[in-house]
Amino acid sequence: MSLDAAGDQAFELKLIFMRELGSGYAAAKAAHETLSRDGKDRAALQALREFFHKLAGTAANVDLVLLGRLAAACETTADGLLEQDGEVQWRALQVFSDGLAGVASVLEGSSRPSTEAPRAQPDMPLAVSGGAARVLVVDDDPFSARLVDGVLRAAGFESSFCCEPDKAFNTIVAENPDLVILDVLMPKVDGFRLCQRVRAHPGLQLMPIIFVTRRGDVEQRVRGLQVGGNDYVAKPFEPQELVARVRSHLQRLSELRELAIRDGLTRCYNQKYFKGRLEVELGRARRYRTGTVIGMLDVDHFKRINDGYGHPAGDAVLSHMASLITASVRSSDVVARYGGEEFAFLLVDATLEEATVIAQRLREFVARHRFEVPALNGEPLSLNCSVSIGLAALKPDETTQAFLQRADGALYEAKNTGRNRVWVAP
Ligand code: GH3
Ligand code: MG
Ligand code: MG
Repeated sequence: MSLDAAGDQAFELKLIFMRELGSGYAAAKAAHETLSRDGKDRAALQALREFFHKLAGTAANVDLVLLGRLAAACETTADGLLEQDGEVQWRALQVFSDGLAGVASVLEGSSRPSTEAPRAQPDMPLAVSGGAARVLVVDDDPFSARLVDGVLRAAGFESSFCCEPDKAFNTIVAENPDLVILDVLMPKVDGFRLCQRVRAHPGLQLMPIIFVTRRGDVEQRVRGLQVGGNDYVAKPFEPQELVARVRSHLQRLSELRELAIRDGLTRCYNQKYFKGRLEVELGRARRYRTGTVIGMLDVDHFKRINDGYGHPAGDAVLSHMASLITASVRSSDVVARYGGEEFAFLLVDATLEEATVIAQRLREFVARHRFEVPALNGEPLSLNCSVSIGLAALKPDETTQAFLQRADGALYEAKNTGRNRVWVAP
């Protein structure tokens, strides 16, 4: 038989397999739903067992090796349940559900381009930066990539995959996913090299990287950690284990990100974050022509508080001040500690008139407020202070730098004209 003829035959075999898989999948999904409603339904369990049994025996013949293993795991689970008499529990249903998700991703992969927008699930439990966490799967083997991708989507992540290792680095930089799953053995670029390149990029230091390695290959695992990988899963992987590892790394990442963008004393955002967010919000404001106002707030004669009552008293005033500012603005607004005793706030979708009302109310509240602070002699102590605030509203075609400078200039004027006042930039 010629190579072409062999290829044709394999292709035909795969078509038949896919057709069968499609019709079997619908029935298996129905059986899974029945079983979810009634854990004692033996016929549904039997139907699922048969579907996975058939799949476990045939998938490898059409190069769907991982799918075959996934099906085998489901079959074993079903066998175990059929031996007992009890009710099917949630964990087992989850195993079947993962198996069905693997099948669905193979079916989808054969009928749609890989660039289709990913579906986010409503019960998505994870959010690193708002919305579902985004995972990028890099694997030269499209089937393997789709399988991992399918498992992740079924678990509620936004997943996409890249099957061209030599383009993977640029894809990672361009898509900036929350986490990358990286195959070790790929032609042209090996996974370890790619990981080193990612780690050398200044913007990608924190991105969790999980390697997919051969089971039992200790050398690969160690090397993976040496080049900056965070974890590994062994092939063939257990879907639940993969999802659990992805979740735990994303959780840690979100904690790290929080630490990196917040000020330790006041828990407000830091200046670096503020400036980054400012760019994003200004981009939006220019596009949709909405109003945006920056407020710069500085505590008046703060040095006197430190000098008179001690540094801890000054700290207490600052952290209390942060709460007062945060309470004065909407939750969609951004409050940051801009410097020592200076705060910045960004009012999104606001007019200068609204901003002035907010700033005046805040200023008056602070001036009346007694700040409870720890005193040097241990006695409870409360003290007064005031703030000066400069406001500026974004002008059309104004640069971010010029916008910030106008707000700064307004604060300077508020100080210069006597403190405890709000000054609006022209
Ligand atoms: P002005 O009304 O002109 O703003 O006077 P000021 O005293 O508030 O301003 P100045 O810039 O002279 O002093 C600010 C002080 O804030 C000096 C610095 O030691 C203090 N400071 C900066 N960061 C912190 C901090 O984290 N905790 C405490 N307790 N003090 C801080
Ligand atoms: Mg000050
Ligand atoms: Mg200052």
